[in-house]
Amino acid sequence: MTDCEHNQQQLNAHLFDLSLTDSKSDWSSLVAMFVHSQLKTWPLAATNYKNLRKVTKRSLTFADFKIDIQHNPSRMRSTCANGSKEAIKERPCFLCVEHLADEQKGLLLLDKYLLLLNPYPIFNEHLTISSIYHVPQLIEERVGDMLHLADLLRGRTLFYNGAECGASAPDHFHFQSVPERAMPVDCELDVLIDKNGRTLVDEKNGRVVLVESYLRECVVIESERAEWVVAQFDKVISKLPLNDNVGEPMMNLLANFAYGKYRFVIFPRKVQRPSCFYASGDAKITISPASVEMGGVMITPRKEDFEKISKQDIINIFEEVSYSISI
Ligand SMILES: [Zn+2]
Repeated sequence: MTDCEHNQQQLNAHLFDLSLTDSKSDWSSLVAMFVHSQLKTWPLAATNYKNLRKVTKRSLTFADFKIDIQHNPSRMRSTCANGSKEAIKERPCFLCVEHLADEQKGLLLLDKYLLLLNPYPIFNEHLTISSIYHVPQLIEERVGDMLHLADLLRGRTLFYNGAECGASAPDHFHFQSVPERAMPVDCELDVLIDKNGRTLVDEKNGRVVLVESYLRECVVIESERAEWVVAQFDKVISKLPLNDNVGEPMMNLLANFAYGKYRFVIFPRKVQRPSCFYASGDAKITISPASVEMGGVMITPRKEDFEKISKQDIINIFEEVSYSISI
């Protein structure tokens, strides 16, 4: 058997049985049925989604936006993941089909991605959409795929964590997807763009706006045309410094499709983790920002961090990890 046939056989063993569903179902209904089925048949996921209902939350309010704080102990492994090349080489890759749990099933998308239920959720219906091949976390040729997936999975926000910007498997390409508006950013950008957005491009095909009044800078690309978004993304990315360790600039990306147009958000990044992550004693706050944090939800696996984190801490964290293209 060739490697390719072996991979195909392993993949087939993990494909969700679509005969259980109505063939006329749209993707949102399929995903809902898929999640429901996984929660019935996969005890680890069932327990963790049940526990998600018990996580404690609070919010810090700033001008025109808020930051949610979520105390989620089950995310400790992800927040503190050792992403060094040595550590990654040592462990079996949890996104490779041959290492998926027996109960874990997936939906094949675009013939090259497997939609999986994330067993360590931050939100309900927290999905991982991973490449069916073990290839590195590099967005370069996949922005078009990201938009295509956002279009397929309407009512959801798709996100991408760069290899040193929160990806827990930097060696295996993957997106994640959560219900739209689970992150405050989905509800806040319209107001921020109207009030303080700096328009960089405004033409028939769409617009590109820089949002600076958000503690962390982001660039928002909006268009009905996917290829126009891809071209604008390439222009923005060309202005960011390359991270030689991974082969692309540091970034978190968000995408969704609503009312006939794509919205694509780029959060340029400077460093992986803030200094408080490495501090000791009272100064320590175990937070490791990824797309979810940039989107306005700070995950604090430790109770003491959840209780003590202040608005000034949030300001400092964003200041340290965000890259500013406007200076
Ligand atoms: Zn892998």
